[in-house]
Amino acid sequence: MIRRGQISELDCRTAESMVARYMNHTLKTDEMEEFLDHIEHCPSCYDELETYFIVNKVTQQLDEQEDGSVLDFQKLLEQDIRRARRNIHKRRGIQFAGGILTVILTVVLVVFFIFIFFEIKHFW
Ligand SMILES: [Zn+2]
Repeated sequence: MIRRGQISELDCRTAESMVARYMNHTLKTDEMEEFLDHIEHCPSCYDELETYFIVNKVTQQLDEQEDGSVLDFQKLLEQDIRRARRNIHKRRGIQFAGGILTVILTVVLVVFFIFIFFEIKHFW
């Protein structure tokens, strides 16, 4: 059920289909943001992600370490989500900086050509 304002536009079916891609880090910036917005307000999808996350981490842990230490998966997932959020900001920041740089370069080029144009006119 979708309650306006409480749960983002993303419906649960779509969010659930994105869980695997979240784990593989193959979501685009916008998709990632929509996904995070959804799971933060939707307990059933959060559970889905948590289950997937735990299975994934347990498998990884079996491969990597055998010291028997038990990881706090809930905390790990929270950290993972926070990291994903920071990544969104970083990617947006890079996009923004890139845009600003393009504008500055364009202005510099235009000014340069105007300058050259007037310099050439002086010579004639
Ligand atoms: Zn949901």
